[in-house]
Amino acid sequence: MQSRVQPLEQRFHGQAVGPGVGIGPVHEAVEPELVVTHKRIAAAEVPAEIKRLDEAVSRSRHQLGKLKARLTGLPEHSQTELEPLIDAYLHMLGPSRLMSGIKRRIKDGLGNAEAAVSDEAEAQAGAILGLTGSDHAGRQRRADEVREIARRLLRNLAQQPFRNFRDVAPGSVLAAQELRPSDAALIRPNQFAGIITADGGADSHTAVMLRALGLPAVLGAAGVLAAARPGTPAIIDGDTGEIILNPSPASLDAARSKIADITRTRRRLARLQRLPAETRDHVTVELQANLELPFELPLIAQSGAHGIGLLRSEFMFMNREKLPDEDTQTQIYTEIVTAMEGEPVTIRLLDWGSDKDIEALNAYLPGAAEPNPALGLRGIRLLLHHPALLETQLAAILRAGAAGPVRIMLPMVSLCAELRETRATLDRVWRRLKHRGVPMAAQKPPLGVMIETPAAALCAPQLAAEAAFFSIGTNDLTMYTMASDRGLPAGGKLYDPLEPAVLRLLHMTAQAASDARIPVALCGELAARERVTPLLLGLGLRQLSMHGAAVPRVKKAIRALHFTECTAIAAAALAAPDAAAVREMLGM
Ligand code: PEP
Ligand code: MG
Repeated sequence: MQSRVQPLEQRFHGQAVGPGVGIGPVHEAVEPELVVTHKRIAAAEVPAEIKRLDEAVSRSRHQLGKLKARLTGLPEHSQTELEPLIDAYLHMLGPSRLMSGIKRRIKDGLGNAEAAVSDEAEAQAGAILGLTGSDHAGRQRRADEVREIARRLLRNLAQQPFRNFRDVAPGSVLAAQELRPSDAALIRPNQFAGIITADGGADSHTAVMLRALGLPAVLGAAGVLAAARPGTPAIIDGDTGEIILNPSPASLDAARSKIADITRTRRRLARLQRLPAETRDHVTVELQANLELPFELPLIAQSGAHGIGLLRSEFMFMNREKLPDEDTQTQIYTEIVTAMEGEPVTIRLLDWGSDKDIEALNAYLPGAAEPNPALGLRGIRLLLHHPALLETQLAAILRAGAAGPVRIMLPMVSLCAELRETRATLDRVWRRLKHRGVPMAAQKPPLGVMIETPAAALCAPQLAAEAAFFSIGTNDLTMYTMASDRGLPAGGKLYDPLEPAVLRLLHMTAQAASDARIPVALCGELAARERVTPLLLGLGLRQLSMHGAAVPRVKKAIRALHFTECTAIAAAALAAPDAAAVREMLGM
């Protein structure tokens, strides 16, 4: 009789992002097959087809620019390998033989852009491979480069979403090299047992979205993809960051009993829903929820959160070919405001740019790829460059204000002038809607700013004189203060919101808000870490906004605290030499 050999259990580690434990077969998400349509076009259609091609080129350049910017987080040998490759791609997108060949096929051959790209790339790759000489490997590499850049152009021409998760069996553990925030927006809660990626950091935007899904997720887990085959059984632990492939019966038993424990704890925490978030010595904290995707609404309602402290409006713009118009946006905001039954909803204006890649908005990006997109046109800077986008969003928010209290929040502010300019636009839109007799709230909504650049934190007193409220975005504030990318697992060493440099900025911001008597919240991922809650209270924060699932945990922590201890912890943390010392103080 033949006995089947049980494959050996293998363990991997990454950054714990979405809490909980999941068990399921691995499904690797790969890019969907590209379907290229060949069409003949009329001579009159040539300019439009060339314009489509130019837009795809500019999107491709932007994506490659971002990729290049991310290389700095990789080991040196990978950088030396990848940088010339990306430069070669960028060169091909310039005035190259490939591009002139493609344009000729459109102008003279009257082929559609997709056919022109695919046929020209194949012809050139074939010609390279047909050359004689001994360097066969070099010829193969150059042909592959031409084909690869053509694939990118084709995907951008078709504006295909990167992935499609509809056909993945429910209950699988989804594994991918990388997920973009727009990919994460396609995943439904309960669709998978867990999510693993090889790239990505714990405070990246993808991580923020995955956390919102409430799924166990581990990012930046090197080696798993190479070791797993389709269907390999896996355990993913989103609390410890551990992934086990081919788990032994003992590991499976341990995972199942951890799942049962988690369910029991969640039930116990749910009982806190109606109790106040108040320390033992009666200091009250307002807990609000962050919303990244509309399906979180029921969870937020059950969480005991008082209103939405951060509605990341980017979701409305993702995975669609056309931008949502004023009516569509109004309808989406109104549904959310209505569901919150009188609790305030803080709508953050579109924060796009940097690692938040939104296909439908690519045409608005600067023509040439920015070498450092995180330092370029993003957040409010970009909206002020495109007043039509800003006005549409402001009009929709003002109209949603008829259904309940809304507040408007500006992302990525670094100057008082940005707030002033936005206020002038808001006033103009308000007057226009009023003139047309459109229903709105009786009062203009409060206009507040996110404090997520060191410039904003350092000038908090000046900003506080003009803003109605502050909300501190520790994810970006940490990145810009520590000059370390929030999206890279390798950046993790320097990227730490508990560094005293960041804590000092939090303290200064809270102080400036208190002096000016305006509310200040903290809405970065730090707000959800209950071990850090005493420190945040001690630094002067009384409003915390976090993903819905974290609200009960943080409330439980607050109810066990004495405020006097919090002030002592904050004073010690501000004087600490580094994040490691702060962590020790907090028992982390
Ligand atoms: C932040 O930067 O902390 C924040 C809350 O905004 P986002 O994560 O969407 O950039
Ligand atoms: Mg931010």
